[in-house]
Amino acid sequence: MTSKFWSETVRRTEPYVPGEQLDLPDLLKLNTNENPYPPSPAVREEIQQELDRKLQLYPSPTVDGLRQKIADYYTLESKNIFVGNGSDEVLAFAFMAFFNSLETIRFPAVSYSFYPVYAKLFNIPFEEVELNRDFTIQPECFFQSEGGVIFPNPNAPTGIYLELDSIRDILDSNPDRVVIIDEAYVDFAGESAVSLVNMYDNLLVVQTMSKSRSLAGLRIGFALGHPELIEALIRIKDSFNSYTLDRLAIAGAKAAIMDTEYFRKTTEKITRTRDWTVDELKKRGFHVLPSSANFVFVSHYKHTAEQLYTRLKEQHILVRHFTKPQIENYLRITIGTDEQMQHLLRELDKMDCKNG
Ligand code: PMP
Repeated sequence: MTSKFWSETVRRTEPYVPGEQLDLPDLLKLNTNENPYPPSPAVREEIQQELDRKLQLYPSPTVDGLRQKIADYYTLESKNIFVGNGSDEVLAFAFMAFFNSLETIRFPAVSYSFYPVYAKLFNIPFEEVELNRDFTIQPECFFQSEGGVIFPNPNAPTGIYLELDSIRDILDSNPDRVVIIDEAYVDFAGESAVSLVNMYDNLLVVQTMSKSRSLAGLRIGFALGHPELIEALIRIKDSFNSYTLDRLAIAGAKAAIMDTEYFRKTTEKITRTRDWTVDELKKRGFHVLPSSANFVFVSHYKHTAEQLYTRLKEQHILVRHFTKPQIENYLRITIGTDEQMQHLLRELDKMDCKNG
């Protein structure tokens, strides 16, 4: 569809297509990397208290309390922290703040599919850098980028983690350009690049509470970086919507970041379930990429990804199938509870995956 009323921006925009939602009571939803466990009980208590208190008043536009809690958690200062309505919003602001329409940015050809959407929306030229055959990132391909660099670490949808030494090399070779590391999944393995924030003024780390902190429904994302980068994000936010985080989200996010014990327990549980699931999938003839995330990226020697996706959906199990040519024979499966994974494996066994 098009219309004479549409601006040039709307015409060139190809919106991101989020993972399917199916309204079935017995649906096993393994397609959007949500956490199978509920958030910390402290989140509920804080939100309840906030509900009883001040909903008729605007939230804090500077979100100082939450920024300070995140800063404390990472031994940084609140001037190093920006918070937004999900990391998708933080990423959108970062594209606006640090990339421009005259210089080409780089991101991996197999990566988070929101990046090309933002690039087109904001008219930023981009180059999609091919990965190695084993889906690992070649750091040198991101050296001396004209407009800047962005990639997830661990990468999505592959789950593969790039070591911090390589990230340092990329930062060193782009001293005048911003390098954004999207760490949506870093809490499930690997070391965060947050430890480099005080050493590099061109590093922006973006994280989310949607995955490891079970708060996808509250929409909380944040960025960590040099105060000059954070100030740029605040300027964009204040020119757009000063109150992007609502009172309930702020209250819940504070409680979630403070309950470190619950966070440790649930993330460890998920990584244990992941490692077990990887072994079980391999026994059933799956090729499984090494995952440092709360999902696995798999293909099967006998069945196509599309066949498996369709047959699992018939059994009310939703996994993610991408149509992009390089990865069309792969499925991305979110790690759920042990019981959910056992259920998935039983359904795969019925599909004769076993004799791999
Ligand atoms: N980055 C990556 C790599 C993701 O996979 C996602 C989740 N789809 C996000 C960012 C956005 O997460 P959220 O907006 O829920 O914080």
